[in-house]
Amino acid sequence: MAGACAGWEDDADHQFRCRFREEPSENEFDDKSYCRFHLPMGELGEGGKADWDDDQKNAISDDIIVRFGAEAKKPEDDREILNFSGALVPGIIRPLM
Ligand SMILES: [Zn+2]
Repeated sequence: MAGACAGWEDDADHQFRCRFREEPSENEFDDKSYCRFHLPMGELGEGGKADWDDDQKNAISDDIIVRFGAEAKKPEDDREILNFSGALVPGIIRPLM
C-alpha cells in the first residue's frame, strides 16, 4: 500500500509537500511513494516517468489542460490559483485531442 506522496524538493534540497490531495500516490520510486505529478523521471527501468508510454504522457497533459479549463470557466472572483509546484511533465502539454 502506497503512502502519501513524497512531494518534491528544490535545487537547495528544501522539501515541499504535495498539494495534489486528490491524486493517489500509487507510484513507487526509490523507496518512496509519489503521485503522478511528482514522480521523478529516473532512468529507464527505474519506475519513474522515463518508463511512461505515450498514453500516460498524454493523460497528464490532458489533466493539466482540463484543470486550467475548469478554472477559466468560473467567474473571475471564484477562480483559484493552480499550484503545480514541483510537477514534472515528461513531454509536451497539448490541446485536448
Ligand atoms: Zn505529489
